[in-house]
Amino acid sequence: MARIVMKFGGTSVANLERIHNVARHVKREVDAGHEVAVVVSAMSGKTNELVDWVQSMPKVAGAASPFYDAREYDAIVASGEQVTSGLLAIALQSLGINARSWQGWQIAIKTDNAHGAARIQDIDGSDIIRRMGEGQVAVVAGFQGIGPDNRIATLGRGGSDTSAVAIAAAVKADRCDIYTDVDGVYTTDPRIEPKARRLKKVAFEEMLEMASLGAKVLQVRSVELAMVHKVRTFVRSSFEDPDAPGMGDVLNPPGTLICDEEEIVEQEVVTGIAYAKDEAQISLRRLADRPGVSAAIFGPLSESHINVDMIVQNISEDGSKTDMTFTVPSGDVDKALQVLSDNQEKIGFDVVQSEKGLVKVSVIGIGMRSHAGVAATAFRALADKGINIKAITTSEIKISILIDGPYAELAVRTLHSCYGLDKA
Ligand code: ADP
Ligand code: ASP
Ligand code: MG
Repeated sequence: MARIVMKFGGTSVANLERIHNVARHVKREVDAGHEVAVVVSAMSGKTNELVDWVQSMPKVAGAASPFYDAREYDAIVASGEQVTSGLLAIALQSLGINARSWQGWQIAIKTDNAHGAARIQDIDGSDIIRRMGEGQVAVVAGFQGIGPDNRIATLGRGGSDTSAVAIAAAVKADRCDIYTDVDGVYTTDPRIEPKARRLKKVAFEEMLEMASLGAKVLQVRSVELAMVHKVRTFVRSSFEDPDAPGMGDVLNPPGTLICDEEEIVEQEVVTGIAYAKDEAQISLRRLADRPGVSAAIFGPLSESHINVDMIVQNISEDGSKTDMTFTVPSGDVDKALQVLSDNQEKIGFDVVQSEKGLVKVSVIGIGMRSHAGVAATAFRALADKGINIKAITTSEIKISILIDGPYAELAVRTLHSCYGLDKA
């Protein structure tokens, strides 16, 4: 007998037929004698619709400002998961399984107060464990918890992955299975590169980089939690026949295992390519090159919760002036420009320029630590396709390259093939 947390994403619960199909996956594990808890997302598209309603309300109501109360945002956008958790409980009951739905506050999944992007702080798993012992399947609404203000708090987009891994850690599950619309983690997004290959295993650190650099197959925070709590996490498909051979394999279910580096015997130099759209670049021209200038720029931006990513600085020939270029999400450009102009005198720059619609493509692999020439290969391959590089950042296990938006797909495919990732 194993203890398993099964999470089903938006496309897996997109309509009643698919929810019935999900119930069959759950029944397979229950019939095999395992203890099971389930986490569900909202039906695909639902959360987008709810977010859109929230964003439109102030305008429709004639408000001067587009801002809205984040606590009400959470009350609204968390509702999608309430629906699917109840529907799945009914589908399971119809198959003769003892199931009950639970909202985040009922468990309770306790979070901090950062409405809209809350972090889970504590989950008491004892009640779920007790119910498992009585043969009951808990169907938990993902993406939500309860904040210190006693109100619903959501965990940021894609947050049901995090709910699932956190619950798996809290109930000391043997496995956390993330069911989605692809049958594992691929060398790059299979929607962009059909030649992408499914990976058997991915190290936690690599998955963390891939997720934070744009591969939204797992939410970043879920990978962090899996790494810290050593949760054996599998990414697998809900679209396969629930009763196909091997689907119930306890140790090696079909899909990709996210695991410790030591478990990966044959480590490739490059594991995958990720991309993130909607990046923007801001350049401050002719800044005085003196101590404190970076603090004067990035301090106010961080106080305004603007996430700065790549930073490039050029010094003029005589060393007196500098240009500072950095990237932020496109959606934050206007806010960032406002903050910079409010602080122009303190920072002391001549001109500010900005450009939206850029893309960051990244090459990721633990093997890079011990191999030279990985970056040079990428630069050569992009140059051969006439793709201009606007900025570069590197770490021990990744290289990120900023390019113009229209080249995104070409760049992903080019990098994917230049490291031979399309070859088995
Ligand atoms: P869910 O609704 O199940 O949470 P998501 O849409 O959040 O599913 O994540 C699954 C999607 O992630 C896939 O459909 C795929 O297009 C995308 N994706 C991006 N990068 C990768 C990758 N390297 N491997 C697999 N899928 C990826
Ligand atoms: N429904 C939420 C979203 O679309 C959470 C999730 O699907 O993981 O972001
Ligand atoms: Mg997701």
